[in-house]
Formats: sequence, C-alpha cells, structure tokens
Amino acid sequence: MPSSILGEILESNLKSMHDLVSLCKRRGLIFQSSEIYGGVGGAWDFGPYGIELKNNLKNAWWKEMTLREDVVGVDASILMHPMVWKASGHIDGFSDPLVDCKNCKERYRADQVDLTKACPKCGMKDTFTDIRQFNLMFKTELGAMADTASTIYLRPETAQGIFVNFLNVQTTMRKKLPFGIAQIGKAFRNEITPGNFIFRTREFEQMEMQYFIKPGTQAEEMERWKEERFNWHLKNGLRKDKLRWAPHPADKLAHYADAAVDIEYEFPIGWGEMEGIHSRTDFDLTQHEKFSGKSLAYTDQADGNKKFIPYVIETSVGCDRSLLAILCDSYRLENEGDPENERVVLKMAYHLAPIKVAVLPLMKKGDLEEVSRKLFKNIGSSFKAEYDNAGTIGKRYRRQDEIGTPFCVTIDYDTLKDQTVTVRERDSMKQERISMDNLLKFLAEKI
Ligand code: ATP
Repeated sequence: MPSSILGEILESNLKSMHDLVSLCKRRGLIFQSSEIYGGVGGAWDFGPYGIELKNNLKNAWWKEMTLREDVVGVDASILMHPMVWKASGHIDGFSDPLVDCKNCKERYRADQVDLTKACPKCGMKDTFTDIRQFNLMFKTELGAMADTASTIYLRPETAQGIFVNFLNVQTTMRKKLPFGIAQIGKAFRNEITPGNFIFRTREFEQMEMQYFIKPGTQAEEMERWKEERFNWHLKNGLRKDKLRWAPHPADKLAHYADAAVDIEYEFPIGWGEMEGIHSRTDFDLTQHEKFSGKSLAYTDQADGNKKFIPYVIETSVGCDRSLLAILCDSYRLENEGDPENERVVLKMAYHLAPIKVAVLPLMKKGDLEEVSRKLFKNIGSSFKAEYDNAGTIGKRYRRQDEIGTPFCVTIDYDTLKDQTVTVRERDSMKQERISMDNLLKFLAEKI
C-alpha cells in the first residue's frame, strides 16, 4: 500500500465490505431497512449523513447532465400504464433463471451457481430444481375495488418514463435532434440474490439519460458519451486504475441494443458494473408506437420535414452503486494498531462530503461557545456545517474524519484575543491559523 513520508495512506485499504457496513451504521450514513423488526432483504435506509452524501452525488450528476443546452430533465411517475412494460419487453423477458435447493430451500440464480456440484449452503448433491424463469418486476394493484383492480408494476428502470414522454418533451421544449432527457428516480427489482450491501438491492435509484439522435450517428455519439461518463466518475475522485471498460460481446447484447459497454469499478468483492452506456437504436420508441397506436416520429424541419423515429444512446448509472464505489474508494485506515494515531478517514472529493465544515469550541465554556455559535451560524448559511462541543478535540476530529468532513474549525482562548481560529484539513491533518474575517473566503476557495 503506497504511503507518504507522513505515514498517510494514499490508496483505499478497505479490506472487506463488512468494515464499511459497520462504519456506515456507526456514523449514521446507512442503516438496514426496518432494522428493529429484523430487517428486510435487499433494502437499506440512508441516515442523516447518508442522505447528504446521496443528494450531493445526485446534484453533481444533475448539474453535469443538465447544465447544457441539449439536455433537459423530467421526473416521471413510478407507476405507469401496464402496457408500457408489455411494449418494452419487460413482462415477457425481464427475468433471471432461478433454481431452488429442494433440501434447504435456498434460492440461486442459475447462472451464478454450478448446478453439477453440491448446494453451497447445505452441501447436498442433486437437490436443485429445474431452472425456471423468474420475472424481476414487483406487481401491485391499481385502484381500491378488488374487481376493478388491474395489475400494475413498480418500474424496474426509469428509462421508460422518458421514452413515453419523448414527444411531450420534444414539442413543448421545441427541441431539435440531437437532444437528451435526464431523470433521477427509484427503480425496483425483485432480485433473486440481493447483497453486498448497497451493490445489489431490490429498491435503488438510477440516474439515466436518453439522448435522441439521427439514425446513423450512433457510433460517434456513443464514443462521445462514453468519454463524458468516464470522466464524470474521475471528477468524483474515483481512481482511474479502479475503473475499467467492459464491452458487452455481440452475442450477449440485449435485444434492443446494437452496442453496449459498462463502466466497472473494482469493489472489495471484485469488479462490478456501475454504469451502462447503450446504443438502443429505435427499439423503444418503435415499440411504444406499435403498442400505443400513437405516432412518435420526429419531424426533421432541417431536412424537408422528413419523419423518422430517432435512435437513442442511453447512459444509466446506479446512484447507490456509484455511492458505494465512492465510499470504498475513499476509505482509509491509517496508523493501524497505534492507539494514539489510528484513524479511519473517508477521503472523498470535497463536493460530495456530507458535512463541509465542523465548528468545534475547544471547551464547553460560555465565552468560547458564544463566539463558536456565532461563527457556526455564519458558516452554516453558506456550507453544510455541524456544531460539536462534546468530548475531547481529538475524538471530535476522528468523528469528522469518519464521515469525510474536509475542514474542522477550532475556537480556543487565543480566538478571544486575536479573532483567529485553527482550521484543520482532513487528509493532511495540517492546521493553520486563519482570521475569522477571512474564514468564509478561505473555505469558499477550498470547497
Ligand atoms: P446487473 O447486471 O448488475 O444486474 P444490469 O445490467 O441489470 O445490472 P442495468 O439494467 O443496466 O443493470 O441498470 C443500470 C444501472 O443500475 C447498473 O449499472 C447499476 O448501477 C444499477 N443497478 C441495476 N440493478 C441494481 C440493483 N439491483 N441494485 C442497485 N443498483 C442496480
């Protein structure tokens, strides 16, 4: 593990997902869903710091994707007309192959277990059922009356909410090709084997963008979006050597795609998909046109009012999965075994940190607290800040390190004399004395 002369560890040294799960619980980032009832499989709750981090990540994506002329946003509903899923192919084809062990009842994805060997849980041989297809969509019923209720589904991806609104958006926003529609929202999949913390859950958030283009331009648009999306993960601080491309081989392409590539991250559990970039041709719009009976053609005014169905490049990133990558990548256990100096620190990009500044009066004393409260109010209107006056200063620093707070501001007796405070930076632990008048400017420059 490379380290600097100060003993600072420069690379994540997270050994197991377990260490991260316990940090996230201990520090109020992520809790098991319905924990007091024993939890529910494949669902997690974001705590006060977790939601700040998640919102910062979503904001970063939203800004990246929509602060430009050619992409606009939508927020489609989770419940959609059931025909949407017929048209998209999800009712007939969105399934994983499933087998059960007849002895211990454990369920497996047939493609993730060796069916010629013993059951990994109970060790019995020849106990697997035949493979059957298991649809991953959650069903529910629309309407209060049992006899009028019709089966509808929780959306398994956000993309279809964009496709069915293609013409609404194109005409109201007077958009010309190429243009994109971006959306962040929940998706639900009844995964057979959820697990590895928030890597694979049954309820998760996707950040998706569909970019509508002229047929024939898909190869160059695909290249452009591949580059843009890879760079976004680098901007979030992920290390380049932990990222790689995983192209889908031609014989494994989804029925709707003419090219597809994943961006993978090397999690402690191994390489895993974080984002997919897909060239979806005109499949989805054509299907919706066929099933709805409504024309979804685009009229090209620049080319003699020619009508055609646009092609689509899709970028689809899991919010929770990229958040997991950021947590894994930023985790450092420093000076392990040294009781004085051991610390866990989340060295994440400043713009993602849940709390930007902690305000810490050296002691719980009236005059120090008065100045500190005032300063906290002042800083807190510009940055997400936290006030903490409990425990030794060392313990308070450690606590902020564990949630990735970039700056701690300490108010001591010298502050009362010369109006200066100590600012400690998270990664280097370097401290400098700054005048309170210059503090906001200093923080704004750094953050
Ligand atoms: P996988 O092969 O891991 O099941 P997928 O290829 O089905 O994923 P897509 O349908 O391409 O995934 O979804 C786009 C993104 O949504 C994925 O790259 C991932 O980040 C996220 N995602 C998909 N399924 C889940 C899940 N069950 N839990 C958390 N995130 C998910």
